Amino acid sequence: MSASDDCLFCKIIAGDIPSAKVYEDDTTYAFKDINPKAKVHVLVVPKKHYANVAELAAADPAELAHIVEVAQHIADDAFHGAFRLVFNTGLDAGQTVFHVHAHVMTGEKLDE
Ligand code: IMP
Repeated sequence: MSASDDCLFCKIIAGDIPSAKVYEDDTTYAFKDINPKAKVHVLVVPKKHYANVAELAAADPAELAHIVEVAQHIADDAFHGAFRLVFNTGLDAGQTVFHVHAHVMTGEKLDE
């Protein structure tokens, strides 16, 4: 069994689990976080399975840059381009889903 066989976000990308889609292209998928921590809280993920942002950066830095671009577009639409981008990496940093995802938080002025 590969990592992606049992991966929640792989199932969301495949459409096997429903999600509130915000954006999609050939390599990247974005959907609303089910437990939002900001007025607009979107998860942006590569369609290909990587466990965390360090793995993604090593294997496909262009996709990581693309995820940042997608985040910028979401924030341009939601809140004049301002956004917070978080990649929790590792259990002790609060990562609970081991398919790399950018938390894009925007849509309102955020606490410092
Ligand atoms: P992490 O804690 O950084 O790994 O973030 C995982 C995020 O996935 C959390 O913010 C959850 O609220 C979110 N999440 C978990 N299950 C779902 C789902 O089915 N749809 C959308 N977001 C989800």
